[in-house]
Amino acid sequence: MAEKSIADTRRFAAMVAAKQGWVLNPDEDFTASLVEGLCVNWNRYGYFLCPCRDTEGSRELDADVLCPCKYSWDDVKEHGHCFCALYMRKDFVESGGQPGGIADKRYS
Ligand code: SF4
Repeated sequence: MAEKSIADTRRFAAMVAAKQGWVLNPDEDFTASLVEGLCVNWNRYGYFLCPCRDTEGSRELDADVLCPCKYSWDDVKEHGHCFCALYMRKDFVESGGQPGGIADKRYS
């Protein structure tokens, strides 16, 4: 698996956001740290494991939390942002919404 750079990973995140009609968290430092986490996970595990979750040990067991995780659509719809708050709803950002801690649907 070819290594990915921070720039590659940032492009990936921007592409996901554009495809889903979401935006990246406008807090640049926060977003940079999540992008870095995604990049580290790719280079460590070979897939974009969610930067806010631990691996269960294999790609198969982590299938639900490959970014964008299967919970992200519901979370963005319900809360305005995904569990990590990397991706956000445009209207949530435009209305000045601030991400809060939300329960991880992975274990609920
Ligand atoms: S919570 Fe889901 S969509 Fe958000 S960064 Fe993690 S894997 Fe990606």
